[in-house]
Amino acid sequence: MKIKIDLALCQGHSVCLGEAPEVFNVIDQDDGYPHVKVLLDSPPEALRAKVMKAAKYCPNSVITVLED
Ligand code: SF4
Repeated sequence: MKIKIDLALCQGHSVCLGEAPEVFNVIDQDDGYPHVKVLLDSPPEALRAKVMKAAKYCPNSVITVLED
């Protein structure tokens, strides 16, 4: 799987970090607002359940999981 993020819509809620800290971090940006940073663009299958939960519960629906 591959992860795609729509950064323009990310508002730094950190739900993704809570669900899958192996894959997502949330860091402050130059504009002063936190945004998600993807740590693993192509996470292993073992993390699929966590990644899917992060995508499902992201309040802004900015995480898309693509199959490769
Ligand atoms: S990806 Fe979603 S849950 Fe993660 S910081 Fe951005 S808006 Fe929040």
